[in-house]
Amino acid sequence: TVEVLRVGHRGERDKRISTHVALTARALGADRILFICDDNHVRESVNRIVENWGGDFKFEVIDSWKSYIKRFKENNGVVVHLTMYGENINEAINNIKEDINTGKNILIIIGAEKVPKEAYELADYNISIGNQPHSEVAAIAIFLDRLFEGKTLYRDYKDAKIKVMPSKKEKVVITEKK
Ligand code: SAM
Repeated sequence: TVEVLRVGHRGERDKRISTHVALTARALGADRILFICDDNHVRESVNRIVENWGGDFKFEVIDSWKSYIKRFKENNGVVVHLTMYGENINEAINNIKEDINTGKNILIIIGAEKVPKEAYELADYNISIGNQPHSEVAAIAIFLDRLFEGKTLYRDYKDAKIKVMPSKKEKVVITEKK
């Protein structure tokens, strides 16, 4: 499994970008997203998308991110912290793919404001999507796309009520008949 841990979500101020982080994580192939504090706006947006567009993506709230990370590592997990200060993804991605191929679960840490230094210390990999500051949405998208080599862009779900058929010219949407 691939999980995303959103550290430092600042309620009202971050609700839109945190929703985008969650939906991007889902769309690019993660299995669930963990928040440290509950946020109704994000939770409801995720649940609404899953209800209509299918799959089993989960929004969950945890108490302590540090103990969650420690437990994750004890249970055959590898922790990747996405940070502009990290090692370039181009150099590190093959090692992370090998971890997945040997059956390891991946936890990706993504920040909002300044990320506490424990995240750097607890992570197995501190990975940058280039060393320029940009966005958590871009960082998670590029990381997952590299990890899954574009394959998750073809995912579709049997239980979806709405599906898009890719078209060069027009919108083609299939909706479930009631
Ligand atoms: N200034 C903050 C800091 O020092 O940690 C970063 C704020 S940035 C808007 C929010 C998050 O986006 C970061 O915690 C990181 O996860 C991600 N991010 C932004 N730029 C990145 C980059 N170049 N490479 C990897 N992750 C990045």
